[in-house]
Amino acid sequence: MNKITLDDLTLKEGDNSRFIVLDGGRITHPSEFDGVIITGPPAAGKGTKTPIFQDIFKEYGTDLTHLSTGDVLRELVSDARKKIPKLYKYIEGVIDFDNRDFQYFYNFLRKTEKFKPAELGTLALALNVKYIMDRGELVDDNIMTAAVAERIGSDDKIESIKPLYDGFPRTKKQIDLMSDMLGKEGRRVDLIIMAYGDNKKSVLRALGRRICPNDGTVYNVAVNGQEPKDGKYCHKCNSEVVQRKDDLKIVDRILTYEQNTAPAISYMINKFKVPVLLSNVLNVKLGQNLAEEIRKMEKPVIKEFYK
Ligand SMILES: [Zn+2]
Repeated sequence: MNKITLDDLTLKEGDNSRFIVLDGGRITHPSEFDGVIITGPPAAGKGTKTPIFQDIFKEYGTDLTHLSTGDVLRELVSDARKKIPKLYKYIEGVIDFDNRDFQYFYNFLRKTEKFKPAELGTLALALNVKYIMDRGELVDDNIMTAAVAERIGSDDKIESIKPLYDGFPRTKKQIDLMSDMLGKEGRRVDLIIMAYGDNKKSVLRALGRRICPNDGTVYNVAVNGQEPKDGKYCHKCNSEVVQRKDDLKIVDRILTYEQNTAPAISYMINKFKVPVLLSNVLNVKLGQNLAEEIRKMEKPVIKEFYK
């Protein structure tokens, strides 16, 4: 096909996982993978599928590092905290003053004359990210892309990682920025995995999920065999289990995804021109062997495509 539309990306009950490829698209064998994107609606089982795909591609000799955007930002900040503890304290003290941007932190660090020029950008970016997160704001597309670039392309990392991007890119602007950034870093994306789930099942699963506040054990009142004791207590420590706020917002998150992110995905596929694995879990029953069922379904599809 010439162009992929949202309709092409829709799987229905009974469809199996499958690859779609654009005419003239670039197909890279998994042994040569440089990066993979996993995307899909909230609660579509991305968390369950990610380690399965990592395992499958490891069999081809490619070790994909899971890069979730939240982790990328947190790591950037915690690395900076280790590197510049004193300055960090100082910045924390002034953080509530007027607007501080990347340039402010850059100039501030430069004036201290304590850092190598190569370090200034990374540290200023980390301080800027911390500043934004402390104020409860979302980092913008430019900063998000810069943080990802930092994680995959740092000069001081001798062995560069092969990223499995999760949650990035999410908007058309991020897709354009990522494409430019990969070009500059001499990096590629070789596969897009579109984790597809059944919205109804996703909502049930998210609404049924319960967490032990004491030890983090996850239960599900909607899944046989995963219920908490008497419907509300942790089997390990007897604490009363709770619902995550995030899980309660699931319907909102799915709507936002369908309005904003889903259209961006067809844009991304047409831009990167790499194969898309439409990864279906519609035919898999919820239950304890979900991971095994998914593996059994995906592996032959991948082996067949890359044979
Ligand atoms: Zn517990």
